[in-house]
Amino acid sequence: MKIEFAGRTGIVTGAASGIGKAIAEGYAASGGTVIVSDMKLEAAQKVADAITAAGGSAHACAADVASEQDVEALVRFAEDRTGSLSHMVNNAGIGGAQGKAGEYPVDAWKKVIDVNLTGVFLGMRFAIPAMKRAGGGAIVNVSSILGSVGLAGSPAYVAAKHGVNGLTKTGALDHAADGIRVNGVGPGFISTPMLDENLDKATLDYLATQHALGRLGTADEVASLVLYLLSDLASFITGSYHLVDGGYTAR
Ligand code: NAP
Repeated sequence: MKIEFAGRTGIVTGAASGIGKAIAEGYAASGGTVIVSDMKLEAAQKVADAITAAGGSAHACAADVASEQDVEALVRFAEDRTGSLSHMVNNAGIGGAQGKAGEYPVDAWKKVIDVNLTGVFLGMRFAIPAMKRAGGGAIVNVSSILGSVGLAGSPAYVAAKHGVNGLTKTGALDHAADGIRVNGVGPGFISTPMLDENLDKATLDYLATQHALGRLGTADEVASLVLYLLSDLASFITGSYHLVDGGYTAR
């Protein structure tokens, strides 16, 4: 049994960096055509070009996941270029500002909810009709450990990720009869630009100790789970949230 996407097309949002980039590379390495999407076309194009150079099939498309028009156009792009859409990975996300709930800037709250929660809704809203046209499909929403536990100083991020888990369950119930599975993944702290560019070494070292395995995760370790959930190997899995957290939430 092996993960195989030959003849299928999948969109990965936020795919120019970190976890999304690893998912896009893995999708193409498993035989699928990947639509590498991110805010900036040049950044997405660079990843798509590298995948193509390595023998894979990839197209780049810019989209802000918080924009209804952009996400609708992204799905249309996938269908126009490849004929159909089977898979959607709603991965794009931002860390957002830090601050206590009682002091959190309202504009920062709106920004995080727009990208991290509404962005996932829009991905489902426009990908699902395309998957119905294709006769079925699978969606993975990239949540976080912070979709199931809190973190002081991150009220918007934690609320958005808890929301993503609710949306995942409801989407699975709404569209099981359409042959569409919807799952979520909950990474622990993963070594990506989101973390490495925003936290100092002492903080990263402390975060590593909070995982039972004593280290941060890698983008490839998250991608492995996402690709499994998209694949036909996961044909009886829908509506659930799967941790890839090195034991962080086992405490
Ligand atoms: P990353 O390295 O910062 O990559 C995220 C990508 O998404 C970047 O290329 C970013 O572009 C893009 N992006 C940001 N806002 C966007 C928007 N509105 N529309 C489209 N693309 C947008 O982050 P990552 O660590 O791989 O995170 C990926 C996902 O995993 C996120 O949903 C995050 O919440 C989740 N996650 C990460 C961790 C972790 O520890 N790293 C843990 C749990 C969950 P710019 O660089 O131009 O902003």
